[in-house]
Amino acid sequence: MLRLFTTFFLLTTILFAVSTKAALDSAKKDLYSHSKTRQFQAYDTYKRYYIKALIDGNTKQQLRCLNGICIAGKKLRIDVSDYKKKLAKLESHKTHHKKKQKKEPSHTKTERIKPAKKTAPKRVQIRSKHALRGFHWDESTLVLEFDFMLHSKDVNFFKLRPDKGKGYRYIFDINAILFKKPVIKHKEIKRIKVSQYRRDKIRVVIESKKPLNMRFNREGKNLQITMGISAVHAPKAKKVSKRVNHNKLIIIDPGHGGRDGGAVGYGRHLEKDIVLQISKRLAKILKKEGYKVKMTRSSDKTRSLKYRTKFTRKNKPDLFISVHANSVPKKNAHKARGIEIYYLDPKRGSQRSSRLERKENAADYNAMDSSITKLFSATQSRAKVLESNFLAIDMGQNVVSRLREKRFKVKDVKVAGGNFWVLVGATSAAVLVEVGFVSHPQEVKQLINKKYQQTLAEGLADGVDQYFRNKARR
Ligand SMILES: [Zn+2]
Repeated sequence: MLRLFTTFFLLTTILFAVSTKAALDSAKKDLYSHSKTRQFQAYDTYKRYYIKALIDGNTKQQLRCLNGICIAGKKLRIDVSDYKKKLAKLESHKTHHKKKQKKEPSHTKTERIKPAKKTAPKRVQIRSKHALRGFHWDESTLVLEFDFMLHSKDVNFFKLRPDKGKGYRYIFDINAILFKKPVIKHKEIKRIKVSQYRRDKIRVVIESKKPLNMRFNREGKNLQITMGISAVHAPKAKKVSKRVNHNKLIIIDPGHGGRDGGAVGYGRHLEKDIVLQISKRLAKILKKEGYKVKMTRSSDKTRSLKYRTKFTRKNKPDLFISVHANSVPKKNAHKARGIEIYYLDPKRGSQRSSRLERKENAADYNAMDSSITKLFSATQSRAKVLESNFLAIDMGQNVVSRLREKRFKVKDVKVAGGNFWVLVGATSAAVLVEVGFVSHPQEVKQLINKKYQQTLAEGLADGVDQYFRNKARR
């Protein structure tokens, strides 16, 4: 049994190594292509493999990915200052090891990048970006699905009359980016072309021999385009995406509850109440999107860690989300704020998360000392760690986008690894979301605000969607 496992492990390791090289080689090609879309893809790939390299402790690969991220950042004008700091730190480390006397960083290819002044914290910089996630036909209406709410300023529509052998052209410019060019066809339309027109603009050109009765409508995250044509039979894309969701079970675990109030915040707001409200909103949104959702508690009940892990093991979810709120002692209450998302990582765990680990693991932790958790954590597969990290990043990105869209002031989300007992129970991707600091006088006001709670939950749900979409492509 053990030997079989070892062989399997080796095999998957080799396969992963081969695919990593291929992925990074193709990312390099994309990076130096003239297509912004491909450059974005490269940026995405480098970011993903940077995390993998971190987990594997592969410095060479970390350097390669960081270099890629920084070049892509410059080309696409994305803020990658955090990655620059990491790159500079890693390079100065390397130089330090090579030439022990020489202290300043070497003059390598990336000499323009300034070294970090102090130790860069372990965090991933998240910026908002909006993307076209797919499309489907609803009878005769083409529905373009985006991962953000469309506003009137996001869509610009105009027509072009037939000219030089081209038919009637109807053009939509939409503020979004394209990860993958969709192939959209209809037997009555000459051509439907979707392309990355500018760095942050998608252009949809609908070309027809005869004039069309073109109408469009923004509905939430969708752009509905009605062309006055006959219905498309068998709307495949729609069916597939729904079926995908139906197969997925998500467990939402609102922290604490009942006798265990969790953190007591400013104005005596309790962690257990805030996290239950947000969890319920999240569950409602996910159910609406077709996911199966189970909760470890849906009311103010006391739940032991043992109950939570047992519940999770029994249900074998595709995803596990534990929802908590953070706090710090009074003297620091004005300083600490922001959303943090943790994934289970037995190897890592900064000073900061250790304090948090102790707090979140505390509930009925007496019987389990930290060495037992470590032992349990060590049995967690690398694939799960990696998947959880992907999930955390996708959630972080989407939460920031959503909140900023609704003009809420938010810092970038901190994504980090940690040892949380409750995450050990899940066999698939699992994260612990700290929705904010209840100890912060202003932040707690946001956390009890219904609109803020809803937007935050929508962002988390978007992250879940994006995670599953990306997973299908990996
Ligand atoms: Zn908690």
